Amino acid sequence: MPLTTTLKTPVTGPYEQPTGLFINNEWVEGVDKKTFEVINPSTEEVICSVSEATEKDVDIAVAAARKSFEGEWRKVTPQERGRLLYKLADIAEKNTDLLAAVESLDNGKSITMAKGDVGAVIGCLRYYAGYADKIEGKTIDTNPDTFAYTRSEPIGVCAQIIPWNFPLLMFAWKIGPALCTGNTIVMKTAEQTPLSALVFANFVKEAGFPAGVLNIISGFGKVAGAALSSHMDVDKIAFTGSTLIGRTIMKAAASSNLKKVTLELGGKSPNIVFDDADIEQTISWVNFGIYFNHGQCCCAGSRIYVQEGIYDKFIAAFKKRAEQNTVGDPFDNNTFQGPQISQLQYDRIMHYIEEGKKAGATCETGGERHGDKGYFIKPTIFSDVTPDMKIMQEEIFGPVCTVTKFKTEDEVVAAGNDSTYGLAAAVHTRDLNTAIRVSNNLRAGTVWVNQYNMLSHQLPFGGYKESGIGRELGEAALANYTQNKTVSMRLAGPLF
Ligand code: NAD
Repeated sequence: MPLTTTLKTPVTGPYEQPTGLFINNEWVEGVDKKTFEVINPSTEEVICSVSEATEKDVDIAVAAARKSFEGEWRKVTPQERGRLLYKLADIAEKNTDLLAAVESLDNGKSITMAKGDVGAVIGCLRYYAGYADKIEGKTIDTNPDTFAYTRSEPIGVCAQIIPWNFPLLMFAWKIGPALCTGNTIVMKTAEQTPLSALVFANFVKEAGFPAGVLNIISGFGKVAGAALSSHMDVDKIAFTGSTLIGRTIMKAAASSNLKKVTLELGGKSPNIVFDDADIEQTISWVNFGIYFNHGQCCCAGSRIYVQEGIYDKFIAAFKKRAEQNTVGDPFDNNTFQGPQISQLQYDRIMHYIEEGKKAGATCETGGERHGDKGYFIKPTIFSDVTPDMKIMQEEIFGPVCTVTKFKTEDEVVAAGNDSTYGLAAAVHTRDLNTAIRVSNNLRAGTVWVNQYNMLSHQLPFGGYKESGIGRELGEAALANYTQNKTVSMRLAGPLF
């Protein structure tokens, strides 16, 4: 199979799309020469085929990453690691339009949102580039006869498995902290969205990273993903995706070589609106909280709680707002919501919508397909819901939310925490005391006040409860990719 193909997007014209596996800074076919098709979710048509990595390719990629970790990469100074990451960010910046277009084509997100993602990718890489020469240990005074210090060392060969909802951004969140701390990587992208990372791979070589530092493979979870999580020569695995697969990965790590594990998993996040909130602003944030990225956000504000004094007014205004969201062609600059990622996700979401209707919830708006081609679903709001309903408990990962009326602060904090998840939450109020009290009492890794979905590469992000283990972003993410070594040295002198 050729290792590149010429593709076109509505905004860039023709470009060269790599389709092979990126191992050791080279494009190669899979050993078994398998390929799979990549589907455009807006048209349901095949975009192209890419190489599929199997266990044999995983072995080759892990060996390349190991060789580099033990060899050339180890000799690269922290300052140089930072310079390489800055260079990578610069190349990405020059190619913003191309990267965004490929992301829209492959994932279906609107071109304006895709450009936002690329901006966030660049910011994230520069942030971690700056950390490369600031990784420090300590000297610790234990005894006058001893000189003891700690070193913060890289973990080694890291496998990283990412999902399809933010293909490039999840890629950057993973590689930034891993590379600045001196690890090497085998990255497996999601089978639904391999294209933007493959374009990015060429920039890795152009930036000057030594061969084997960052290897990027396309493939399926059950094959390449499983091979990585049970691999005996992978030192660490970082995963973003469903809680179900997070458990599988942890089990594989436990029954192989006890590789270190960090997980960023699902959510069913409460978005709480008090009577005193600025209703117009809040409606915008609630709308953005659930419908941004077509509801395909792990932190989506999918359980909305509204205090009784403004409930009726809120429902009417929110319904009107949701119906104004433009759903359609991702390459139209006015589009807010594109298609869901795949037929499978479309079917899963429609199944939840049917479950909600059958369980007796009121579908205030949406609840059906948009158009007749592509995996588009209208923004959907359910009211008259009860805590036992599936649509209140399970992550739908689509443009579907529930709205529940509440009376008191205690009641809504208990309801907000009534979930196996704990990724994010939000509070809308003009009262600072309410904001701080409720934020402190919610069991979630991130709480937004009078806003939603406002992530920053400077702020740690991750889950309480079954939403994950470890924190991404911010200084906190460095801990995911370093391990402490203690060196304790006896000074010359008598033994006791
Ligand atoms: P998934 O968890 O199956 O896939 C995410 C990644 O894991 C992909 O790269 C996939 O290839 C890989 N994977 C799958 N099975 C694996 C295995 N056995 N071993 C190793 N890697 C494996 O998610 P999905 O099936 O694409 O979506 C299902 C649900 O997951 C969604 O409806 C949503 O609820 C949730 N999800 C969450 C996130 C998030 O950001 N937290 C992202 C995507 C999906």
